[in-house]
Amino acid sequence: MASRLQIDCLSLSYIGPQGLTKAVDNLSIDVGQGDIACLVGPSGCGKSSLLRAIAGFVEPSTGRILIDGHVVTEGSVCMPPEQRGVGMVFQDYALFPHLTVEANILFGLTRGRPKEATPAQGSRARAMLELVGLADLHERMPHELSGGQAQRVALARALAPEPQIILLDEPFSSLDPSLRARLAREVREILKAAKTTAIVVTHDQTEAFTMADQLGVMFEGRVVQWGSPYEVYHEPCSADVARFIGEGALISGRQCDHSVTTLLGSLPLADCCCDEEYPEKLVRVLLRPDDVVHDDDSSLKAKVVQKNFRGADFLYTLELPNGERILSLVPSHHDHPLNEPIGIRLEVDHVVTFSQEEQPQAFKNN
Ligand code: ADP
Ligand code: MG
Repeated sequence: MASRLQIDCLSLSYIGPQGLTKAVDNLSIDVGQGDIACLVGPSGCGKSSLLRAIAGFVEPSTGRILIDGHVVTEGSVCMPPEQRGVGMVFQDYALFPHLTVEANILFGLTRGRPKEATPAQGSRARAMLELVGLADLHERMPHELSGGQAQRVALARALAPEPQIILLDEPFSSLDPSLRARLAREVREILKAAKTTAIVVTHDQTEAFTMADQLGVMFEGRVVQWGSPYEVYHEPCSADVARFIGEGALISGRQCDHSVTTLLGSLPLADCCCDEEYPEKLVRVLLRPDDVVHDDDSSLKAKVVQKNFRGADFLYTLELPNGERILSLVPSHHDHPLNEPIGIRLEVDHVVTFSQEEQPQAFKNN
């Protein structure tokens, strides 16, 4: 059922009283058959606009969209939404309040006449409820569901017509954080079981890491990086992406050939950062909190200046002898006093570096 989704050089603008707003700017992505791609980016960067263009609700100004190799949008061609085989799930569930769970799912299958469902449509609806783990709740009304259940019904409804592609726009943002994490895992499994190609928009990085085969970071209408969650986290293409996608610190270093020397020792450089043009240059080095490991036996010391309790671990802010700060995840049974030095060691395969114009700094989510 799943289809490949290709977007080439897509731009989309809105014309309003204030003039032209460019929402999507020359964007190209390619999502493989059956893959789950997550898009993250700050509010207003054009994520929803991109989904609306894929679904066919808005017409882009330039570029093209192909589903399964067939053009659905290009120039004067703009296939109507109902012919595209694209399903959508929104943040606010958008279930019909006066219809039961089962009738909500049948609504799309029966063109708005759930009471006239054929036996085949009925069994498809029940199969979808089964898939999202809500087979027992088919007679409930939407107001009798929890937020997480309602969102799974919305997903079942979107999957029922066997869409080639499913688009989820911030599907969990009205749910509480612990439920969101669980639902993100469940929805990934459901999408994989349904073998649907999906794009999930979220502003929550953890959610994106949980769900994504591929992760795209969007700023101001453009995808600035596209890769596996691991790549985007450990090899962000810019300091802005590094800051947006997680916690960490930028510290000073001197880059030479394939390594960079810092106060914490010499570290191997990721291939993307090796620079033949400059034999040696001053840079900022990205260290994630999980790169910095507590080790009492290490001769490297840093002062604990802040501690944030996170449950399983503490996020420590540590000050290096030159005054620069780094972050470290320390298991929570090690509770070190503030303003005392602790031993640390780096556990990194490769590091990425950015230009010296970036300030040395530590950045956290809260
Ligand atoms: P996101 O989903 O990433 O928050 P949107 O796609 O909703 O971003 O919006 C991208 C830009 O387009 C924003 O500047 C927003 O104000 C503008 N925009 C979105 N929808 C409309 C609309 N219907 N009319 C005019 N401007 C819009
Ligand atoms: Mg949006």
